[in-house]
Amino acid sequence: MNLVIFGAPGSGKGTQSEKLVDRYGLHHISTGELLRDHIARGTELGKVADALISHGNLIPDELMLDILSKELDAHPEAEGVIFDGFPRTIPQAEELAKLLEKRGQKVDAVVGLEVPEEELTERLLNRGKLSGRADDNAETIAKRLEVYHRQTQPLKEFYNRRLSYYPIQGSGSVDKIFDDITSVIDSLG
Ligand code: ATP
Ligand code: MG
Repeated sequence: MNLVIFGAPGSGKGTQSEKLVDRYGLHHISTGELLRDHIARGTELGKVADALISHGNLIPDELMLDILSKELDAHPEAEGVIFDGFPRTIPQAEELAKLLEKRGQKVDAVVGLEVPEEELTERLLNRGKLSGRADDNAETIAKRLEVYHRQTQPLKEFYNRRLSYYPIQGSGSVDKIFDDITSVIDSLG
């Protein structure tokens, strides 16, 4: 089973992904984590990523796809994957479909965490106090939300047309949201 966990910055993708990994034993691919790991290690890619991320911009599709396909190749044993923070653009979604097709697979469901805009900003500002993440400050948060609306939100329609988009109410308790997600997954059969 291949699952995409979808939502705006701060919608809780990472939190829910960890719980889903425990429940279903899927391999977790967080593109944000992969990039932050490169930044921490000071790789060439990390330097490029740092400059983009700290200003709230996306990493170019070609670069992101290269990272993603290497990550998939590195885990041939995975029974399934949770894609967290990927795809973020229509070209990324088109390419993901091709990459999976080559492996005889597809995206089985896209779970969309829907959270009101004011709550997203509040959560990210709060996280910034603890995380020390370079992109969790007021200016960058506003930019990330704008980029989300322009480049990422159109994916809802993309996956809706493919009958694979499942919206979930993403505010409320972490456990309630998790229950709603598992209901969707368990109903896929
Ligand atoms: P959440 O809080 O819901 O887990 P997030 O938006 O805070 O999500 P990440 O998914 O960790 O954070 O991404 C952080 C940054 O990494 C993005 O703002 C972007 O610059 C870069 N990034 C991550 N994934 C991609 C991608 N698929 N394409 C391009 N850039 C990406
Ligand atoms: Mg995240």
